[in-house]
Amino acid sequence: MINKKLLLVSNAANVGEAYLAWCKDIISIDMTNKKLLLISNSTNAGEVYLDWCKDMTNDFCRRHNVNNVMFIPYAGVSMGYDVYEEKVKNVFETFGVKLISVHKATNPLEAIQKAQCVVVGGGNTFHLVAELQRTGLMDMIASRAKEGMPYIGWSAGSNVACPTLKTTNDMPIIEPESFNCMNLVPFQINPHYTDFFDPKHGGETRMDRLNEFMKVNQDTYVVGLREATALNLENNKLSLIGRNNPMIVLKYGKEPEEYTQTHNLDFLLK
Ligand code: ASP
Repeated sequence: MINKKLLLVSNAANVGEAYLAWCKDIISIDMTNKKLLLISNSTNAGEVYLDWCKDMTNDFCRRHNVNNVMFIPYAGVSMGYDVYEEKVKNVFETFGVKLISVHKATNPLEAIQKAQCVVVGGGNTFHLVAELQRTGLMDMIASRAKEGMPYIGWSAGSNVACPTLKTTNDMPIIEPESFNCMNLVPFQINPHYTDFFDPKHGGETRMDRLNEFMKVNQDTYVVGLREATALNLENNKLSLIGRNNPMIVLKYGKEPEEYTQTHNLDFLLK
């Protein structure tokens, strides 16, 4: 319960140096206390729901002393919130973590304020963003996660941890107030990233769509997260985890690059 984070700095101006210049790095490191588990996909083809990422989710909860979580079901358009809650609750129960869905809370904002950890499920990203904005939960979750509350998301739940929803794969079935999301990481994620090319299909490939994004958003890195992989951010360190699939990193004017679990990903946090 005692979760204070203090940085007690001796002096602001150091003789002969710009104001706060000497401690700028310490302050920015200390401000970045996020704990994020951003998962590409919940269902891995041919496997039981959430099974492939169950151990990493359990480990993440253990590392951060999480024994109950608040679930955000708003991406679950077809399934409905009650069914979605039940489905995810059953998985979290297998490793001893209690889950309650925010749609059942009498005061959702207060529920997030008190939550040990927020878990944002996948589905339709536009619907998720529209509901998070309408209810005020987008800002509330973002500020708690920036303070260090553990955050778990998969698919659409990983999209909303990014600056915007612009690299979602989903159809815009509803119009949110804006495309702005939580900005917990400074880059965009494209979940379920695939290199699949169907020669009999004339529509855009995934890379065509991402190239369009980059053309009009030239300063933004995009991480294509392949199936059965996730990004973990803790102690200011970003790592690719999960099965042994590399991720692809894209930026306008650069050749696409593949990164494996052993690569340093610090550049994505700058
Ligand atoms: N529809 C996806 C999901 O949440 C999100 C995406 O593909 O961008 O599963």
